[in-house]
Amino acid sequence: MNIAELFKFKKTVYSLEVFPPKKAGSIETVYNTLYGLRGLPVDYISVTYGAGGSEQQRQKTCEIASLIKKEYGIEPVSHLTCVGSTREELRGILTELKNAGIQNILALRGDMPAEGPVSMAFPHASDLAGFIREEDSYFNVTGACYPECHVDAANIDEDIENLKKKVDAGVTQLTTQLFFDNEIFYRFREKVEKAGINVPISAGIMPIVRKSQVERTVAMCGASIPTRFARLISKYSESPEALNQAGLSYCVDQITDLVANDVRGVHLYTMNSVDTARYVTAATESLFKSVNKA
Ligand code: FAD
Repeated sequence: MNIAELFKFKKTVYSLEVFPPKKAGSIETVYNTLYGLRGLPVDYISVTYGAGGSEQQRQKTCEIASLIKKEYGIEPVSHLTCVGSTREELRGILTELKNAGIQNILALRGDMPAEGPVSMAFPHASDLAGFIREEDSYFNVTGACYPECHVDAANIDEDIENLKKKVDAGVTQLTTQLFFDNEIFYRFREKVEKAGINVPISAGIMPIVRKSQVERTVAMCGASIPTRFARLISKYSESPEALNQAGLSYCVDQITDLVANDVRGVHLYTMNSVDTARYVTAATESLFKSVNKA
């Protein structure tokens, strides 16, 4: 199923993200995660591609996405990065995805390798989106966006101008980088609409349940920490159980507010944690049911 259709008939779509384990040979861990997630009321599950990982890990994306579809009957979205890739390499991956029945692709640039990319055939995600659209109309192409501005962009206005190029290249839906401050998302959504970008945007939400996650996540994506959230982290940072509870509650509050403010989608970064995904899904399920039946 083309997930663009989901966004046409649902007011708010709910999705999850999983990733292939970094270590070769530990693929079972994500299979266990998927088994643990079975039966949850989710509209689709996306699978990351090679983020900081090996070639072997990249190959697992298609395998995991295929399992999500065939074994669990849930629509998968396969992430795909283009930086450093050649047209032939990407053509090969598209064939593999199509043969596995995977129709939805999150087209990404990927992070620039420190030593510079081997090939500059695809400098931006918009180039990949355009390439996929030209190669085969079977695929539905989605993209990423950054409410707090991508690190490489001079400012948010420039970043949104570039985002428009990605949408003009054929991206039908966007998912945001994680954020903790909904007001930043609402301001971004307004700017994006003013720029003439009309595709649905899903809010990427990550529950923070461990102290180590805070520093790592902020360092990786530069998300702002609002005062209310900073207080929770500092208050409970020495008590793992309390921090877990406070982090989950914050995440549920964030989603509650987003749904009340007509967000088109919530995409939960599960970090492959079954407990976290189950908790957040159970605590927010009635919100999605309520807006989608209205
Ligand atoms: P782009 O859209 O190409 O943007 C990158 C920079 O280039 C921005 O500054 C933008 O303003 C500028 N730009 C974009 N288009 C143009 C243009 N046409 N002309 C000039 N400038 C332009 N990484 C992984 O490796 N694997 C994953 O699975 C993965 N999943 C992700 C999922 C989500 C929802 C998000 C938000 C990020 C994900 N990432 C993943 C990280 C992503 O690869 C990095 O953030 C990367 O640095 C940028 O990717 P992009 O697709 O947003 O790039």
